[in-house]
Formats: sequence, C-alpha cells, structure tokens
Amino acid sequence: MSSAGGIIRALNSGVKHLAVKRFTLRYPEQKLKFVGDGFQFDPQTGVGIAGQKGRHILFHDKCTGCQLCAIACEGIAEAIAMVKVNETWKHNKKAIMPQIDYGKCVFCGLCVDACPFYCLYMTNDYELSSFTKEGLIYTPAQLAVKPSVRQDVEIKIGKWGATHG
Ligand code: SF4
Ligand code: SF4
Repeated sequence: MSSAGGIIRALNSGVKHLAVKRFTLRYPEQKLKFVGDGFQFDPQTGVGIAGQKGRHILFHDKCTGCQLCAIACEGIAEAIAMVKVNETWKHNKKAIMPQIDYGKCVFCGLCVDACPFYCLYMTNDYELSSFTKEGLIYTPAQLAVKPSVRQDVEIKIGKWGATHG
C-alpha cells in the first residue's frame, strides 16, 4: 500500500470512530458495574458461578477450618495462612480460619473451588491498594465484612461494540 493510501485509511478509520461512544472510564469518578456478586463455586454440582475475582468474603458460621483453601493455594501463591480466631464454633474445633495476603494472591479462585462448605467466595472489590505490605493482609475478621462496592457505569453491547452510559 502506498503511503498516501495508508494515510487515507488511517483518516477514514479515525473519522468512523468519531461517531462511536467513548469506552474509557473516568476512574475513579466512574466505576464499572459488574454482573453478579463475584466468583462463586458450588461444591455439590462442581460448577462455578461466573463473576469478578476480587477480594474474598468468608462466612465464619460455615468455615470448619479444614484448610483445603490453604492447601489449594500452596502451589500457586502461598497467600493463605490459617490463623486462630477468638470464636467458638462447634464445627470448627481448632478455631482456625484463612487469612489472605493480597500482596501474594493472584486471584485465581482455586481456594474458592476447594472450599467444600460454601463459605469462601470472591467479590467485586478490586480496590485493595495499600501503603504498607501489612495492609494487604486480610484477617478472617476483615474477610467476613461484605465490601461496599460503588458501581455506577453499565456496559452496553451494541452495533459498534461495547460502550457505556
Ligand atoms: S485466589 Fe488467591 S488466595 Fe485463592 S488460591 Fe488463588 S492465589 Fe491463593
Ligand atoms: S474457608 Fe472453606 S476450605 Fe477454607 S478452611 Fe474454611 S471451610 Fe475449609
């Protein structure tokens, strides 16, 4: 292709995109709306429920301290440490629960797949930055808190591809 032909093609492409709505978000003023509450896994059916793989949520009333989540993470990132909790649950005799280091976690979701008791899921929370390494370590108590995630921009799939309002 001649250089003049290339310039015309480039201009043509640019002009066509003038009519297309901007896709880039003005983060952090705008935040993307996710579908669903986050990645989950049903151990009974062996089926995953698609969703954002963000910060985990841990349901203390179901965790048995079996450590399967930590074992699943061992060969991946070693991000889970089983730690003592100051709680008494009949189903968790050792009173241990997972603590997750987000400085190591690669958000693969294998720990969620490994949990047989429906108590470890992922959420839509992806804003986990911290000024310290310690700030990235989430204790069982912190993991139990449902994150409040502001999501105000919805993605629309149209003729011209994906856009947002
Ligand atoms: S999601 Fe994070 S904590 Fe869970 S297995 Fe993967 S690396 Fe480990
Ligand atoms: S979160 Fe699930 S896999 Fe991990 S210790 Fe608790 S019950 Fe076991």
